[in-house]
Amino acid sequence: MRYVSTRGGTPAMSSAEAIKTGLAPDGGLFVPEGHPVLATGELSSLIGMTYKERAGFILSRYLTDFTESEIAMCVENAYGGTRFDKQGVAPLVHLDGRLSVLELWHGPTCAFKDVALQILPQFMTEAMKKTGENREIVILVATSGDTGKAALEGFADVPGTRIAVFYPDEGVSEVQKRQMITQEGSNVHVVGVSGNFDDTQTGVKRIFSDAALAEAMDRAGLVFSSANSINWGRLVPQIVYYFSAYADLCRENRIQCGDPVNFVVPTGNFGNILAAWYAMSMGLPVGRLICASNANHILTDFMETGVYDRRRDFHKTVSPSMDILISSNLERLLYEMSGKDAEKVASWMKSLSVTGAYNVGTEMKEHIAKLFYGGWTSEDDTLKTIHSVWKEHHYVADTHTAVALNVYNGYLAETNDKTVTVLVSTASPFKFSDSVAGALFGAGVLEGKDEFELLDLLSERTQWPVPAGLAGLRDREILHKVHATAEGMALTVSRLLGIIPAAEGEIHG
Ligand SMILES: *Cc1c(COP(=O)(O)O)cnc(C)c1O
Repeated sequence: MRYVSTRGGTPAMSSAEAIKTGLAPDGGLFVPEGHPVLATGELSSLIGMTYKERAGFILSRYLTDFTESEIAMCVENAYGGTRFDKQGVAPLVHLDGRLSVLELWHGPTCAFKDVALQILPQFMTEAMKKTGENREIVILVATSGDTGKAALEGFADVPGTRIAVFYPDEGVSEVQKRQMITQEGSNVHVVGVSGNFDDTQTGVKRIFSDAALAEAMDRAGLVFSSANSINWGRLVPQIVYYFSAYADLCRENRIQCGDPVNFVVPTGNFGNILAAWYAMSMGLPVGRLICASNANHILTDFMETGVYDRRRDFHKTVSPSMDILISSNLERLLYEMSGKDAEKVASWMKSLSVTGAYNVGTEMKEHIAKLFYGGWTSEDDTLKTIHSVWKEHHYVADTHTAVALNVYNGYLAETNDKTVTVLVSTASPFKFSDSVAGALFGAGVLEGKDEFELLDLLSERTQWPVPAGLAGLRDREILHKVHATAEGMALTVSRLLGIIPAAEGEIHG
């Protein structure tokens, strides 16, 4: 399988090259040239497999330049051992005969990004070997919360890599910050940046485009790379859990192998739900893909009108990982759905960057609407849904999962579609314990308590255990105290990497 750019200006590459490169040089995203459709019988063969075997099976269809044993090693290093808790990588929990929850947050950081970020470093080091790269990779991440910690956990102590995560002072929760600044590992750096997420992201982009710094890095045997969700190596492991959920439904006789299933996905950058689309393109029987948004419902509007328009207010919500106005991975869907028309995709993306909007036209909009349903949930309804699913099913949903559940309820009311449905749950409720505890027990319980005390309160009242990755966080040693201004980020990273010597007192404080 070779990989091409959605904008058509890059020669086809192997998966190792695509993963190492990240973003295509023409600004587009790498996509597989073809769709590896499963033969009859292959789908049902997944039923008897473990998650790791299912992962090896699906990944080998896309990473055709990796040997079977290389893939098996990547899978074992990511999903073996005790990185994920004893419930496994992607367990299904049934709410009723028709609706099951796919819990993707049993990894070390309690959010679904672990599924991809545990294995990406494995792919990356293999890809470096295969492409004859002997420099050390330095992963740079700007994070608004979940990605930074998941990337740190994935890359910590992975040979041949280093990682530097920048988080904004204004913008991450106390728990998220503590998760990052207590990170262990001999190759990790964590830096607080004055400002908000946009300032931090802009700073990282500036580092990536700093030619003098790139040259100094090269002399020191280092090269920058990104662990960001547009990398094919982050998307491909997500295809696996859609097959895995389907195989589990078959195994438990909730469906007959071959029956269609709907998936509801709480969506931000469009990566997770796009992985479901790729699973479908390989022959997974899918009825409808239900795309759930919060108050930043740019995708809902797009699916309704065919117009993607980012000229709107940005809302800070209780489901912050979905607070996104540019859903980068949508570009891949547009490429596929336009019949791989790279010229059209390039013109839409140009329009987005020049005017802030693009219009895909009626035909394309209707084409997308046959498969996708878009809906969104207000802040108030998100919290009410957390309350009602607890009352009805004794299930504790996090804010992102609740957004999806409420959209699904709206979909059911509108369509009366009785198809068996999988609701993708992207974070542990403990990760957003203030919103969840407030929704379950009233805002009064929050008074006078910090986020750490709320973890315990939520656990006591629901009898759900605090996940290992969050328990004891308050008492863990703070290992990272480096701070930078947005303008000073390049200098700080140079010093941390030892490219230029640190001047006393300049970076700590
Ligand atoms: C990142 C994230 C999402 C959004 O996923 P996309 O792949 O960007 O659509 C949803 N929920 C949580 C908890 C996340 O961390």
